[in-house]
Amino acid sequence: MQEIERLIQLLARLPGLGPRSARRAALELVKKRESLMRPLATALSEAADKVAPCSVCGNLDTTDPCRICTDETRDARTICVVEQVGDLWALERASGFTGRYHVLGGTLSALDGIGPEDLTIGQLLARVGPDRPTAEIILATNLTVDGQTTAHYITERLEGAGVKVTRLAHGVPVGGELDYLDDGTLSAALKARQAL
Ligand code: ZN
Repeated sequence: MQEIERLIQLLARLPGLGPRSARRAALELVKKRESLMRPLATALSEAADKVAPCSVCGNLDTTDPCRICTDETRDARTICVVEQVGDLWALERASGFTGRYHVLGGTLSALDGIGPEDLTIGQLLARVGPDRPTAEIILATNLTVDGQTTAHYITERLEGAGVKVTRLAHGVPVGGELDYLDDGTLSAALKARQAL
């Protein structure tokens, strides 16, 4: 039973899965050994080998730079800044956005001791400048206190850089996280973005 205990313990570390759900998931996996457990094991192993963050934008992909950064049909002049890869995926799913992205890897947080050097803010600033194509930065951090603080900080750092800085419109509920928004709201918030 050691193997199954280990499986349950690992599953329980996933977000949204407590010990009880982890046990159920483990039983389901064992029951569906050939149709679920083995394909899952293969998918996990392949993802562990191949998926890595894009060195330009922080998106997760099997190529570096990622497929979004190398897609010539996408507008390199517009960069949408998000906290996490999950937010990027939500925008990709919902918004019809055709620019590029930048994943910060979190937010500034005095409470958790997270400063600018812990995020990819330096890399973002490096994507802006006279010899760079970037014309607009859309700040799509969440409307939480930390998300707002981060947006303000980036806006300050971008002052004088010659780029337009905009913010997602307030269709996004206060304290809301992008990933949980319905697609229509997210799309509307992006279209109605406001200059800062
Ligand atoms: Zn990329």
